[in-house]
Amino acid sequence: MSLNILVVDDSTVVRLSIVRALRLAEIPVGEVHEASNGQEGLAVLKDHWVDLIFADINMPVMNGEEMIKHIRAEPAWEETPIIVISTEGSRTRIERLEQAGARFVHKPFSPETIREVINEITGICHEQQV
Ligand SMILES: [Mg+2]
Repeated sequence: MSLNILVVDDSTVVRLSIVRALRLAEIPVGEVHEASNGQEGLAVLKDHWVDLIFADINMPVMNGEEMIKHIRAEPAWEETPIIVISTEGSRTRIERLEQAGARFVHKPFSPETIREVINEITGICHEQQV
């Protein structure tokens, strides 16, 4: 089993570093979709099946928080795992995101952290070791 992922971040460098971290962490990745803001992210979700979403918070056009609100309002996506990767420090904002069912990872992040979080959400790394 591999995961189709969507990476939403306005920085190309960050998007690449997330994809690279997934490879380093030996996460079985299927399709990789990228979007540079929330609106583009929602458009990708309409056309493709995605197992896991990485989202930035601060982005032009539509920020991550707003995108997550839209995602959770859609029955087909209400359970889709979301990992927010951001430099955001506001506890209130992080709590709001966690209430929407998103996991929060601070930037900069290590492949190990990504692996741990994905494993907690999906159990996919254990599955692979068996
Ligand atoms: Mg940003």
